[in-house]
Amino acid sequence: MAPTGRPSADDFAVALGIIPGSGAPSCEQERWMRLKEEVSNLRENLNQEEISLSQFGALYFPALVTLWKSPPAPAERCVYNGLALDLKEEDLEAYGPYDIMLEALQGNPYFYKFMRTKNTDIVELRRSMGRILAHRLAKRVAVWEAALQPGGERADYPFDIYRMDSPFPSVDCATGPTQLLCTLLCYESRQSLEALAAEPEIRDVLLPVLRKWTRRYARRCLLGDTAMRCEMILSLNPLWLHMATEMRRQNKVGEGLECALPACTRTADLKKCGKCETAKYCSAEHQRAHYPKHKALCFRTVF
Ligand SMILES: [Zn+2]
Ligand SMILES: [Zn+2]
Repeated sequence: MAPTGRPSADDFAVALGIIPGSGAPSCEQERWMRLKEEVSNLRENLNQEEISLSQFGALYFPALVTLWKSPPAPAERCVYNGLALDLKEEDLEAYGPYDIMLEALQGNPYFYKFMRTKNTDIVELRRSMGRILAHRLAKRVAVWEAALQPGGERADYPFDIYRMDSPFPSVDCATGPTQLLCTLLCYESRQSLEALAAEPEIRDVLLPVLRKWTRRYARRCLLGDTAMRCEMILSLNPLWLHMATEMRRQNKVGEGLECALPACTRTADLKKCGKCETAKYCSAEHQRAHYPKHKALCFRTVF
């Protein structure tokens, strides 16, 4: 039952090099462009977006994170649609095609399922994702910040992070990775956050830039707000640590704390859908009533 329309879960898997397929990108730079395009295509069709992302998450999340952890090296040079794609390896490491996909998957029930599953291989695979991204960003934020200095800044706030004409590095591109970092940091343990905050690369490089972005952009654009959240979590601010815990708790059941049938507000004794385990119901009756709507998003996961 492949969903119709583009891009489908398999289109993404081909674009990311997870499965073979015709028209697969020939290098990492091209993959980056392709992912940007495919993700913005999704945004024009929100129903399709939910279906494609859910199916992709169910089938390919472990493969995506494996590639995200050890991305292939970019080609020496890349020409895409007649345009030389001058993406630096360090930029791709901090915000590559796999980050774009992870970013698109934030908020999807299969993302939460992946982050909470007890399957030991997955627990190992997802270990320290926040820490890894924090270190990748620490290597790059000073360069991005230099490009954001007065004169390097764009005047058209708020930014659309999905615009195609934003050259790396720009504030548009700093937004995506900062937002992803914020989500991943929420899944780090307190001990891990404490250790991370004490590391010189994080304390002396990443945090000062996040502070600058907070001061300059908070309440003006998404970068300011996500930089502030990252900064608060990395500074072990008790209120923000509490909010991170709360966010994890609310996402535990994937689709909220209530029975997945919209008309029902019951919260006690819910049972998971046996196939996808991302939706919960108070009764078999409500599960049946919701199924016509749920079935398009219900996939058995590989993890
Ligand atoms: Zn119910
Ligand atoms: Zn289901």
